[in-house]
Amino acid sequence: MTLHDLIVVGAGPAGAHLAHEAAKLNLKVLLLERLARDRVGDKVCGEGIALHHLKNAGIPFPTGDELGTLINGIDIYPPSMENFVTVSQRIPGELCDGWTIDRLCFGQRLLKRAEDAGARVIAHAHVIKPLLEKGAVVGVEYKDTTQDKLVKATAKVTVDASGMSATLRRRIKHPSIENKIALHDQAVCYREVLELKQPPDTPDRCTIIMDDRYSPGGYIWIFPRGGTIANVGLGTQGGKGHRPKALYKKFIASKPMFKGAKVITGGGGAAPIRRPLWSYVADGIVFIGDSGCHVNPIHGGGIGSAIEAAHVVAPILKDAIEAGDVSTTGLWPFNVEYNRHHYGQKIASLDLMRRLLQEVGNKEFEFVINNRIITTEDLLRANAGEGIQLSATDKAGRFIRGLRKLGLLRRIQKVSKAMREMLKLYKNFPNSPGEFESWKNKVVLIYQSLGYEP
Ligand SMILES: Cc1cc2nc3c(=O)[nH]c(=O)nc-3n(C[C@H](O)[C@H](O)[C@H](O)COP(=O)(O)OP(=O)(O)OC[C@H]3O[C@@H](n4cnc5c(N)ncnc54)[C@H](O)[C@@H]3O)c2cc1C
Repeated sequence: MTLHDLIVVGAGPAGAHLAHEAAKLNLKVLLLERLARDRVGDKVCGEGIALHHLKNAGIPFPTGDELGTLINGIDIYPPSMENFVTVSQRIPGELCDGWTIDRLCFGQRLLKRAEDAGARVIAHAHVIKPLLEKGAVVGVEYKDTTQDKLVKATAKVTVDASGMSATLRRRIKHPSIENKIALHDQAVCYREVLELKQPPDTPDRCTIIMDDRYSPGGYIWIFPRGGTIANVGLGTQGGKGHRPKALYKKFIASKPMFKGAKVITGGGGAAPIRRPLWSYVADGIVFIGDSGCHVNPIHGGGIGSAIEAAHVVAPILKDAIEAGDVSTTGLWPFNVEYNRHHYGQKIASLDLMRRLLQEVGNKEFEFVINNRIITTEDLLRANAGEGIQLSATDKAGRFIRGLRKLGLLRRIQKVSKAMREMLKLYKNFPNSPGEFESWKNKVVLIYQSLGYEP
């Protein structure tokens, strides 16, 4: 049996990009994927990605068949759709904020990059369980589904990048590793790629509609994919008995722009929308992407944070392997780096805002948008994890306009303050496992101060 440096389970954006980054660092990488290789990347998705993520992860921008269209902002609507707020995050000097992409083409490109960099890829390899030695992960057992045969593979470190299925995370017994994600912390979605009769009115902007008649605890998206093609879907909060497909069909029937649209493809899926895992590492194992809960809890986007996690963890894995310490302590620097300096802190803070949004109903959302209580500037700051600071420009005007809903204003301010505290805590993520419990207690206290379960 060959001993690899690294086994990566799952060739989605997280796994494929990690395999590329690690192979580039001369690690001996085995990438295992249950799908046929020409289906890698074929996932139900909104297919939107912000430019800064690809830039941060060092991935060349999409072109050709992979490129849907250039995106220059997101318009966020309340249920009446009478007003909206636009959010745009342009990096100076760049052509656009982001893109819509063909997810299959994107996945195929990432896979090819991994292989070209030297990673060994085995498709039709359905990973079943971790191999353990004295409680530490030393590899995996997988089924070669072409021959219906069980195979064992060993490595110095194993990475679970198997997405929502979290094949290995579910089976790891470790106090800081959560095996299950509660249903109410999942977005349960349905989406279709449609060919419309007319191009969307705003062909370079994504549309988000907050309307709990159709997407309770989530939102509706209409993402242009170029020409008359659009990716349209909605998410609902899991565990509440909502039926996303039925709600989607009801929504589509209510809007004239979808009349006569042809369905190119459709399907359902789920994403974790909560704080990150307490720890992304245990003895001999690391969790990235959806398996590590590296998803933005507000919009459910997780491609960007997955590839950034892959980019951040690769050199840390190399150092740990070279130092001969792949224990929880040896791999701990990934927790520190991703939480203090990358996306972890943002996910943690935005989870509080997600909880607030799930409390707010249609009437309140209509009120804050129509009365300009929340502005583009607020949303940008909120998206950075800093909460909504109603004290910015025009404080008095907004206060007067907001008087009719004073309770709501106070709640927004309380949650925003807690978001800033959370950001600060994550920027001070503990250096070692020994300091973790007292840090964790402080996080739990923030949740409790708002009446939320962590
Ligand atoms: C409806 C919907 C819409 C979304 N829209 C967007 C969007 O517009 N933009 C965005 O950024 N994010 C979006 N997301 C989230 C995004 O799709 C995920 O966050 C992202 O795919 C995470 O990447 P990953 O590599 O962690 O997991 P995945 O992309 O799920 O990849 C996991 C891989 O592991 C493989 N695998 C699973 N189990 C095993 C096993 N046992 N053995 C071997 N291989 C295995 C799978 O086949 C898959 O190839 C959406 C999610 C949903 C559900």
